[in-house]
Amino acid sequence: MSSPTPHIGIVGAGVSGLRCAEILLNHGFQVTILEARDRIGGRICQSDKLGYRADIGPNWIHQVCRHPIVDLARETNTPLHPWNDKQNIYDSSGKLLPDDKSDRLSSLLWQFIEEAFTYSATHQNEISESDSLYDFVKSKAEEHIKEQEDVELLLQMSQMWGAYVGDQVSRQSLRFAWMEECCGGGEMFVESTWEAILGEIAGIPLEKAKVCLGEKVVNVQTSSRASEGGKVTLSTEKGETFLFDEVVMTTPLGFLKRNKGAFEPVLPQRLLDGIDAISVGHLEKVYITFPTAFWVDAPSTPLAPNLSPQERAKAEDTFPGYTNWLSPSYSDATNPSRWPAECWNLASFTPPNRHPTLIFYLYGESSAYLTTLVHRKSTEDHHNLLNSFFKPYYSLLSNYDATSPDCEPKAILSTEWQKDELSGFGSYCNFQVGVKDAAENVKAMRFGVPEQRLWFAGEHTAPFEELGTVAGAYLSGEGVALRILDGYGVNGSIN
Ligand SMILES: Cc1cc2nc3c(=O)[nH]c(=O)nc-3n(C[C@H](O)[C@H](O)[C@H](O)COP(=O)(O)OP(=O)(O)OC[C@H]3O[C@@H](n4cnc5c(N)ncnc54)[C@H](O)[C@@H]3O)c2cc1C
Repeated sequence: MSSPTPHIGIVGAGVSGLRCAEILLNHGFQVTILEARDRIGGRICQSDKLGYRADIGPNWIHQVCRHPIVDLARETNTPLHPWNDKQNIYDSSGKLLPDDKSDRLSSLLWQFIEEAFTYSATHQNEISESDSLYDFVKSKAEEHIKEQEDVELLLQMSQMWGAYVGDQVSRQSLRFAWMEECCGGGEMFVESTWEAILGEIAGIPLEKAKVCLGEKVVNVQTSSRASEGGKVTLSTEKGETFLFDEVVMTTPLGFLKRNKGAFEPVLPQRLLDGIDAISVGHLEKVYITFPTAFWVDAPSTPLAPNLSPQERAKAEDTFPGYTNWLSPSYSDATNPSRWPAECWNLASFTPPNRHPTLIFYLYGESSAYLTTLVHRKSTEDHHNLLNSFFKPYYSLLSNYDATSPDCEPKAILSTEWQKDELSGFGSYCNFQVGVKDAAENVKAMRFGVPEQRLWFAGEHTAPFEELGTVAGAYLSGEGVALRILDGYGVNGSIN
């Protein structure tokens, strides 16, 4: 490496920025991180509003191939929950489907989705950009299922795709369905929180980098690599300026979409096209916690006294992990559009992480509606509005008793990522109908503008199999750090 030590500026202290910093620091580079929030972690974040700490960003670890986040979870003793494979599916009249029917239709649905992944990967160029995953599932259902009622049910069940990508299944590009292949594989839920994993990722950057919190970057003036000794100048909202040899922007895609004019000179067209073409999803979460998990029955026979906490939790885990209320026709007063509702049972965890809580996922139109409904409302109104919305659903669960205080929510926590400028007014990237060349668009963002000393990282620039995830953000930071090291003639390693 030529002296003096290169000084790299990283915009954003989320997972991608922190991982990028760690690798550069490990190779002797100087790093300064400018973070607009008053904390690190970005979309990894917790709230204590339920009376215990809960993640308001990611919960899940999507396992595909090499998975650094699973390794970090193990290293930090972060407990991961493998869900039981039981499910409750209520039809649009509120009637619980028999287990054999919901299992059969659910297996078929996932089979069609897997087929869509394969079909989109092999026939990408022949698929119209206006075709959706919903179109594909519909044609498969009509081809393979005899009963029209079952076709309808399966199509209603297909709406659950929205909780993976943050928007309706009818908005999911079929052509680029393969880019979402991380959805639905071996998935685990972080039972505690992501704090320890984040702490591990942040360890070296917090120790060795200069981390400036509360510094929102508003202008990026790049400089041609051809100009010897050229610098990139970052200006912040507070009026400060910082000079760096290279800059890595990890601001979310939604932030880039609204701030393309912050770059001088203007970004290359391929990059502007990429930023415009890829979409940002709108996933939100609502945690509803009760005095007790009234929906869970005690085991019918006493459990052996010598079970480990994990064995005991498994034996007690009799209630379906997943519940879905399809297109409800019985809640028109609060949900006239009949958006489906779906939740997971957090009372199945191993103590001390077991809580009498249901976590609901919202996406697309319903997440926009509910987020706006409760935005800036008083605590009481927030609670009452959300309780009125979700009561028609949780009141169908076993053992519900309208007169029992045990069935009245104690606390409700809801997220508002789509109101958050610094997360780009959304959750994470997705690939919607209309996108022509999503893979090239992502590649353009991932490549950045090295000739101007400007690089991009973040979940929207991740390896294809991990786009939109924490693992993807982590790997994107790693990838950029290695490319910067390479540019300085340093043979980088990732340990
Ligand atoms: C509701 C929700 C659920 C999710 N669920 C999962 C899940 O289950 N599993 C999973 O793997 N992933 C999930 N994700 C996605 C995951 O959280 C993200 O992919 C990952 O955390 C993104 O990391 P990042 O470094 O790319 O971006 P971020 O974490 O957003 O970091 C970017 C940082 O840049 C800062 N910043 C923005 N603008 C500026 C500026 N102008 N100047 C300075 N700083 C700026 C931001 O404050 C932020 O700290 C979820 C996300 C959300 C919102």
